[in-house]
Amino acid sequence: MILSTLASHSSLQILHGAKMEGFRTAILSSQTRENFYRRFGFIDNFLVYKNEEEAINLLNSLQDAIFIPHGSLIEYVGIERVSKIKLPIFGNRNLFPWESNQVKKMKLLEMSNIKTPTRFERPEDVDRLVIVKLPGAKGGRGYFTARTKKEVKEGIKQLLDKKMIQNEDELIIQEYIIGIPMYFQFFYSPMLQRVELTGIDIRYETNVDGLRRLPGDIKADPTFVVAGNIPAVARESILPLAFEYAENFIKTTRNVVSPGVIGPFCLESIVTDQLDIIVFEFSGRIVAGTNIYVNGSPYSWLYWNEPMSVGRRIAREINLAIQKGKIEDVVT
Ligand code: ATP
Repeated sequence: MILSTLASHSSLQILHGAKMEGFRTAILSSQTRENFYRRFGFIDNFLVYKNEEEAINLLNSLQDAIFIPHGSLIEYVGIERVSKIKLPIFGNRNLFPWESNQVKKMKLLEMSNIKTPTRFERPEDVDRLVIVKLPGAKGGRGYFTARTKKEVKEGIKQLLDKKMIQNEDELIIQEYIIGIPMYFQFFYSPMLQRVELTGIDIRYETNVDGLRRLPGDIKADPTFVVAGNIPAVARESILPLAFEYAENFIKTTRNVVSPGVIGPFCLESIVTDQLDIIVFEFSGRIVAGTNIYVNGSPYSWLYWNEPMSVGRRIAREINLAIQKGKIEDVVT
């Protein structure tokens, strides 16, 4: 069997893990990236495309293969084309439309009894510090903070002028939670019927993470462009709540977006000084922050006693499913 993915995001980790678990591997790469990916010996097949339309056809030509989605898939290929992938996809493909709609996304968290930041429908409603976000996984580009309705309106006008958005309705206005970010990376295993914490990371963002290095009298507005990731471990007393949230989320997705979340997902959170966890976003598939742990994390070690990246964990789940004759339980 071949495990395949799109050349970007966490593809090296995914295919490296697939190889460690004994699978053949294939990468779907644009012509411009092929040279880079050729450097890695664990990639067996190259499907090199000129345009996205061709990409889907190439992928669909693979036999006896599973496709592993990651965060760049929808962003690069678009949800329309992704729906044309005929290969079985690891995880729940029905979650993609939920993930690409900010309102539905937050609703799924609320339905799971997970604390989320207050959302403001219109700039007129803003009565506290907020963060204004653009749609899709844009890596934080264009996000801004504002203290008043007036600042929100001015910021939106600038985004419209720069043509970064077409319409004000595309934006999401959220209460800005004061605390520290922690991204809890989980894995739901239908084969072992348990949720595992596979790691925690923090996005390293410019310039919000650089501001504390400035002298106090120099003021600059924070921006949130992701440039890297930093590993983190949480105070152990925070973990029970994180697991409660994860288990609630699994139950809700099972009821609302059948067959529910399968494999990696991430609760992207702010931890406050009351040690409360407020989740401002989720990802229903592998996040790039797992790339820190190609050799496993302090948490994955607790389950496996061997190096276990999330990429390898996906391949392990597929192996377990094959052994039990239940592959249809981990793909859609
Ligand atoms: P992606 O969708 O690309 O995975 P992300 O998960 O990093 O992005 P975003 O919602 O895009 O999350 O937010 C980017 C950054 O903005 C976060 O890392 C965090 O620092 C900050 N942030 C987002 N929402 C809030 C909030 N409600 N309160 C405080 N900070 C926030």
